[in-house]
Order: sequence, then structure tokens, then C-alpha cells
Amino acid sequence: MKLDLKIQPLSSWITAKKEPLLIAGPCSAETEEQLVATAHLLANTGRVTALRAGIWKPRTRPGEFEGIGSIGLEWLKRAKAETGLPTAVEVATGKHVEEALKAGVDIFWVGARSTVNPFTVQEIADALQGVDIPVMVKNPVNPDLSLWIGALERINRAGITKLAAIHRGFSSFEKTAFRNEPMWDLAINLKTHAPELPIICDPSHISGNRELIPYVSQKAMDLDMQGLMIESHIDPSVAWTDAKQQLTPAALSDLIDRLTLRKPEVVNNEVKDKLADLRSNIDKIDDLVIQKMAERMKIVEQIGNYKKDNGITILQVNRWDEILQKRTDYAKALNLSPEFTEKLLELIHSESIRKQTEIMNQGQGGAPVQEKLTHA
Ligand code: PEP
Ligand code: MN
Repeated sequence: MKLDLKIQPLSSWITAKKEPLLIAGPCSAETEEQLVATAHLLANTGRVTALRAGIWKPRTRPGEFEGIGSIGLEWLKRAKAETGLPTAVEVATGKHVEEALKAGVDIFWVGARSTVNPFTVQEIADALQGVDIPVMVKNPVNPDLSLWIGALERINRAGITKLAAIHRGFSSFEKTAFRNEPMWDLAINLKTHAPELPIICDPSHISGNRELIPYVSQKAMDLDMQGLMIESHIDPSVAWTDAKQQLTPAALSDLIDRLTLRKPEVVNNEVKDKLADLRSNIDKIDDLVIQKMAERMKIVEQIGNYKKDNGITILQVNRWDEILQKRTDYAKALNLSPEFTEKLLELIHSESIRKQTEIMNQGQGGAPVQEKLTHA
């Protein structure tokens, strides 16, 4: 399903100083000196296109630093006047929008904790009616693509066409190396729904620590994201918020220098031919995989009918264990990772169970129930 968004190209409102497009600045504006000095160092790298700073901070717990507030907008004005960098802030209420507009902020973003709430997003959208300003919408805290899309639609319907999405990762129950799980497939999914929508990656909030930021930044570039938003502080060790994930301007510049930028389009004809060749092989194999799946499902149907006629249960745990064991061993011998094989088999198996359940319940009356099987 393609989304009906009216979007102007990124180049109509922001142009990278140098590739990749980089928006950088402290998590929070803390003091005038901290903000202005950081802005100068960032501008001097020659790599930064816009200066970000949190003025109003949505904090998980009360009593934490909740942002310096409106006075910070004055500091941003000074930073912009002295460095020429356009400025970006997070807005979370209609009042923030009003104040930030009055202060001449150039770009707004909607934070992850706001995107989850349609009332909040609508309030921001209403305040933006009739205003021509670029807005970037962060993904919601939870991995829900519809919420992300809904927020983009609300802002877009308010007449904002200079629109971008920011991928900042998702909160997950399982704790991993990341502060917020990247779940790249969700960002890729958004791209397939709205190919013209620019997506900017925020490696700081995905990583939660400095060490992972280069890896996440490189991956974002390899997935053809349009730019990066990275937190940078003149002295991260004393930052009032998100200290672990901020970089000095020098470290940031160094990190960007080390990125490998690859092209989404192939220009060289020889490479193009080779790639077309390889892709055609992939297409043939994919067709075969689908064909074999269909054949497998036909047999599953026969088994289902047989089990029904003979009063046998759908699931026989021993049989499933045997399938899993034999196939993962085989796959390992063929250099496929056990995690991948297990996931693939579980997916196939759960569809087989669904099919057999359908057959078992035929003629039993009642509407068919669509269940999502967790393991099966
Ligand atoms: C931020 O950018 O500092 C911020 C609060 O981010 P998020 O909304 O992604 O948590
Ligand atoms: Mn932050």
C-alpha cells in the first residue's frame, strides 16, 4: 500500500554541507556557553548542516532535567547568528511550536514519546496549520509502524510538505546491546510505503553508547538512509542528559570520515550487467522456493485430511523436534546460520499448522479463527 503523502524533496529544504547529511548538536541545551561553543566546533568541522538541541526534554521520570526551556531558544538564535547553522528543536505541544516559530527555529522534530500519542501529534499538527517549516517525525517508542505513519499523515495533512522521518530505534522488553532496538525492517517497511519520504537515522538513541554509533551509522548508510542525526556535546562526560551517547565534535567528525559511502545506483555498465545477472539468478531461486512451498502445502493439506479422518492430533511434538534437528544440522553443513534456519522452519511450520487447523475445523461450524501462533 503506497501512502498518500505530499512531500517535497529533501533538497528543497536542506542540503548536505558534505555527504552524508549530518544534523548534530547536544541532546540538551544546558548553558549558553555550552551550546554556542559546541555549535562553533561543529560548524568548524565543515560537515554539519544543521544544529540540533533539546530545549524541552520529555523525561521518563519526574525530577530529571526537563530542559532549559524558552531561554534556550535565545541561545540557539545566537548560535545560528554566529555560525550560520540552521537550528532544529523538538516540539511536543502547540505552545512549543508557537514559541519556536517566534524564535526563528528552522526545523522541528516530533519526539518518540510524542509520536506514540495521536492527541499530542494532532495538537502539534494544528499549531502548524498554515506554517511552512520542515518537520521530522521520530518513530514511536514502541515498534508500531501504523503509529509512525499516522503521525506523518497528521503533520502532512496540516500542510507540512517538507517532511522527513527519523529512525531512532524501538523500545523492547528484551535487553540487548542497543538502548533502542534498531528493527531495521520497520524503517525499510516505511520506505516501501512511502519511497519519496526521506528517512534520517539517529544512531545516538539507537545505540545508547558511543561505541556502537559508528556501526549503526554505517548500517544506516548501507541501507540508503538520507542522513544522520547524532548527538554532540563539547564535553560529553558532564552532559546533563544522554551523556553516554554523545560525542565531542572532533570525535563526530572523525566518525563521519571513516564511513564508507556506497551508491544506491550503479553507474558502470560492466557492474550493471554483472548485477543484473546475479539478480536474475536470485529471482529464479526465489521462484523455486515459492513453488516448493506451494508443493509442500499441498502435501500438508493431504496430511491434514488424513489426520482428520483418523482422529489424530495436528501437532506431534516428536515429529516437530525431528524436523527441526535434522534440518538445522543439514543447514549448518551448508553454511546457513542455525538462527536463520530455525526461524524459517518455524514460519513454515506455523503456516502448516494453520492450514491443518482449517481442515480439521471444516464442517464444524463457526467462523474461522485467525490466530498468530507464537512457536507452533
Ligand atoms: C532526543 O532527540 O534527544 C530525544 C529525546 O529523542 P527521542 O525522542 O528519540 O527519545
Ligand atoms: Mn537525547
